[in-house]
Amino acid sequence: MAAVKLATVWLGGCSGCHMSFLDLDEFLVELAGRAELVYSPLADVKEYPEGVDVVLVEGAVANEENLEMIFKVRERTRILISFGDCAVTGNVTSLRNPLGAPLEVLKPAYVERPDINPRIPDEKGIVPKLLERVQPVHALVPVDFYLPGCPPPAARIRSVLEELLNGKQPALDVGQRRFG
Ligand code: SF4
Repeated sequence: MAAVKLATVWLGGCSGCHMSFLDLDEFLVELAGRAELVYSPLADVKEYPEGVDVVLVEGAVANEENLEMIFKVRERTRILISFGDCAVTGNVTSLRNPLGAPLEVLKPAYVERPDINPRIPDEKGIVPKLLERVQPVHALVPVDFYLPGCPPPAARIRSVLEELLNGKQPALDVGQRRFG
């Protein structure tokens, strides 16, 4: 049987969900035997590939880079899992939403307080531009399964991956299913 093509993606999140993924410990060895990690911040792969079977998406959609990425991920992946509370609800990443436009959020730290060289970080196009509002993943693309938690505990991640690897449907779906 061909190995499942597995990916993990890091959008607007703190990487804590990926740290919890690493807490899978010895299950990572078993996973390596049954799945091929084709894209991840944990692997040196530059371009999100075509034909991915399962992706865990950490983080909310907060900037232009996240936006471009989530559409690409959805287009190239069969099963998309919203991985952690930032992806599921916006959570910590969306705390800036009530504070107003991105410029108003950035000004105190980058323009008003620095003693030298005050400037907005994206003005030279090096840092991806913030979107007007942070949004959870399902607000932009269809999500197949939701894996909540901040971060989701390793046992929960393992349970979902085991079910998928065994061709079953995890009991975490509140969205559209994309099996078959
Ligand atoms: Fe970090 Fe929690 Fe968001 Fe995961 S859900 S990226 S651990 S803040």
